[in-house]
Amino acid sequence: MILDGKKIAADIRAEIREEVAALVADGKRAPKLAVVIVGNNPASETYVNNKMKACAEVGIEAVKIAYPTEISEQTLLNEVSRLNNDPSIDGFIVQLPLPDHIHESAILSAIDYRKDVDGLTPANVGRTVQGLPSIVSATPRGIRELLARYQIQTEGKHVVVIGRSNIVGKPVALLLMQRPYLSLPGMSAASLGDATVTVCHSKTQDLKAICRTADIIIVAAGSPKLLTADMVKEGATVIDVGINRVDGHLVGDVDFENVAPKAAYITPVPGGVGPMTIVSLLQNTLQAYNEYSR
Ligand code: NAP
Repeated sequence: MILDGKKIAADIRAEIREEVAALVADGKRAPKLAVVIVGNNPASETYVNNKMKACAEVGIEAVKIAYPTEISEQTLLNEVSRLNNDPSIDGFIVQLPLPDHIHESAILSAIDYRKDVDGLTPANVGRTVQGLPSIVSATPRGIRELLARYQIQTEGKHVVVIGRSNIVGKPVALLLMQRPYLSLPGMSAASLGDATVTVCHSKTQDLKAICRTADIIIVAAGSPKLLTADMVKEGATVIDVGINRVDGHLVGDVDFENVAPKAAYITPVPGGVGPMTIVSLLQNTLQAYNEYSR
């Protein structure tokens, strides 16, 4: 069965639109997101524009704050501080990557975790590790939501994650091994967690043997057709996070054509994890508004 991220994301957008409309009808202000972009990287421009559009569609206010590449680290830190203290802003993101002269970690660390709707600050990641309420980064949140909406249980299951990045591999591993009481606000009761998680990376030995023992495989490596049919157990669930451009086409990290017949559930690329990632930012903004807005 195909896990239709596009459809689920549309369902969630409709739910958010309804919730925001109800807030406004109740005389409250709409949630507001700020997006800081530095320089003119075309890919970043596209991501930011998509995020702005997604906000507009659900009634979340969004403001874009653009700075030239030459901006100093201090000026950007000042902007972060201003946004941290602006009560009209519920959440903000600083679009990555940043120019080389700016230390990404210095900027991320300066963001108030209550407004960190990308869920990338050390404070939010640490809070997740310790089981405190936190905002979870978009792609892991989207993956978890997709599993939940299809009622795919993770309790006691062996989940293999390929990739150990800070934005996907590590946080998704963390989420799925959590005790379920840490489920995200708004998640269905069939909450996820309690999995036995193995995290693999480029130095892992015998990836195939490890993957063959997996009930759920999450691939976030950025390597086309890395996961082949001989690595997948019959009836496994396969989540393909990869986005690669091959011969002008968008492909994932999974050899979809040959893996799909063996998998009980599988995400396509495009139309699987990608749409869930964008909608997670909207959910995170609403979460920041509902839980932390001052
Ligand atoms: P990243 O920072 O590039 O890290 C890739 C990870 O995969 C690394 O941990 C690397 O191991 C591991 N890896 C690479 N090749 C491998 C191999 N042959 N065998 C085992 N492990 C391997 O990745 P990322 O930022 O998480 O992104 C991963 C992919 O997901 C990319 O294609 C990206 O475009 C896509 N992505 C999609 C979304 C979405 O919304 N769908 C969101 C974010 C990212 P080492 O640590 O040892 O180098």
